[in-house]
Amino acid sequence: MKGPAPFDELASALEKAKATTSKKEKVATLAEYLKGLAPEEAQVAARLATGKTSERGSKDEAQVGYSTILDSIKEVTGASSKEVSAAYLRHGDLGEVAEELLSSKKAQTLFAEPLTLADVEVASSKLRSSKGSGATARRRAVVKSLILRATPVEGKYLVKALTGEMRTGLVTGLLEEAISQAFSAPREEVARAHMVLGDIGLLAKTVAEGKVGEVRIEPFRPVNFMLAEPMASASEIAEHFEKEVYAEYKYDGVRAQVHRRGGETRVYSRRLEDITTSFPEVVKALSGVKQDFILDGEIVPFAEGRPLPFQLLQRRLRRMEGFAEAAAKAPVNFFAFDILLRGRKELVGMALSERRRQLREILAGAEVPMAGSMVVKSEAEIRSVFDESRALGYEGLVVKDPGSVYTMGKRGSGWVKLKEELDTLDVVIVAAEYGHGKRARVISDYTFAVRDGGELKTVGKAYSGLTDQEIGEMTAKLKKITLKDFGYRRSVTPEVVLEVAFDSIQKSGRHDSGYALRFPRIKRIRTDKSLEDIDTLKRVEEIFSSQKLKIEG
Ligand code: AMP
Repeated sequence: MKGPAPFDELASALEKAKATTSKKEKVATLAEYLKGLAPEEAQVAARLATGKTSERGSKDEAQVGYSTILDSIKEVTGASSKEVSAAYLRHGDLGEVAEELLSSKKAQTLFAEPLTLADVEVASSKLRSSKGSGATARRRAVVKSLILRATPVEGKYLVKALTGEMRTGLVTGLLEEAISQAFSAPREEVARAHMVLGDIGLLAKTVAEGKVGEVRIEPFRPVNFMLAEPMASASEIAEHFEKEVYAEYKYDGVRAQVHRRGGETRVYSRRLEDITTSFPEVVKALSGVKQDFILDGEIVPFAEGRPLPFQLLQRRLRRMEGFAEAAAKAPVNFFAFDILLRGRKELVGMALSERRRQLREILAGAEVPMAGSMVVKSEAEIRSVFDESRALGYEGLVVKDPGSVYTMGKRGSGWVKLKEELDTLDVVIVAAEYGHGKRARVISDYTFAVRDGGELKTVGKAYSGLTDQEIGEMTAKLKKITLKDFGYRRSVTPEVVLEVAFDSIQKSGRHDSGYALRFPRIKRIRTDKSLEDIDTLKRVEEIFSSQKLKIEG
């Protein structure tokens, strides 16, 4: 029998994949490597290769901040702060810093047992579970013990995985392909299983076990949500579909998947976290349904027939106060708009028109409304439902093709969204500054970026839109995730997502995207979104060219 898989084989495979720009070669390299692994090892390797250290939906992250890693590197290599800073300026990548400093490490660790994948997993699980007082010291000890045993290349990929910044060009799609190649499983089956499992590690394990064909949607294992593509106007939407479609109100709340099996009901957020305890009314409202199900919909703060401001929900989600108090301030309604599973039958592959029929049937015995919707076709009809939605206090429309299937985790063109006239972008904060005057003691100016392939490109800076309380909380958060502190300014780990509104987009040399938002203002902090959900540079370019058309003609 083969011994446990050494970590250095993963590090070498990643190093080789990183070195080539050919996607095909990256895939082949990883496939060749994965092939030799047992299912549990493939699970750990696939997860680490994508810079993840915990299962999707898990609230317990093993990811480690820069300062913990820097301290560990210093302790292990004997490098001074100055040497570390200089190395960071040279590489701009903490993994490469680890590699360089480990190569020139003065004292070599003799007789250290080589690291195995299993060792790294054990360490990750310690990181995931270390919380509360003394956690920082415990986490540092775990990281240090890993780095102590690592060769330079291993150190590089350990640090990359622990910070979630791989920069190998091995995006999840390529890894999915590598998994399918490694275990000779049909690409389409693997893609489908990936959508259902929503986790690259679980996918690798399942495929390695030869069980890819057995993957089913099941209660209590949430799947990624279907998303809507943004469109700029009613006319664009009418042209896009050119047929009768459903125009549904776009509710401004928290996207939720509600699962039922036997007598138990659970609610999951867009990030697939279990949020059941925050919303007992949703569970209660569905108690009349006697079948198993998975529903998709939006939880909206709602009272006396009208939606309330979204902000009311944030306190509740963060459980800042007792539940009774929160529920009194922000009563909610769950508006259901889709059904993925009924009894034991998967419905995702059926047309939306059929899913809606089934949804109506199953909700007959419940106190849960279906999302308001109209059948429309022309631009004028879409416009009129849009205005109606806005007048009722909703955000706009999600327009859906009655023939479309439910595509998990994808922004399919089967669903498109129309918000208010002005566009908004979801962006991530990459740097921040202290404010002026009465805001001199709080971090209130945020530089934000959009995605461009694997990179982040800045598009603007915003300092309005948040309440004093939100700014206070943001200050604490940004201090915690600071990468580099330049005094008045700091760079931060890109994880806080903002939805920003703006008047227009201009070309600009000020930001590295080449564009700048004019009069950006923060509409809200999107705690429900993560780095992968932010808008792209392509989207910025699209808005820029569409507004140019408007101005010119
Ligand atoms: P956005 O959050 O602006 O990216 O818009 C997409 C979100 O709108 C979805 O993820 C849902 O949370 C929300 N939404 C509200 N109403 C609907 C609806 N009727 N159908 C689909 N999504 C909706």
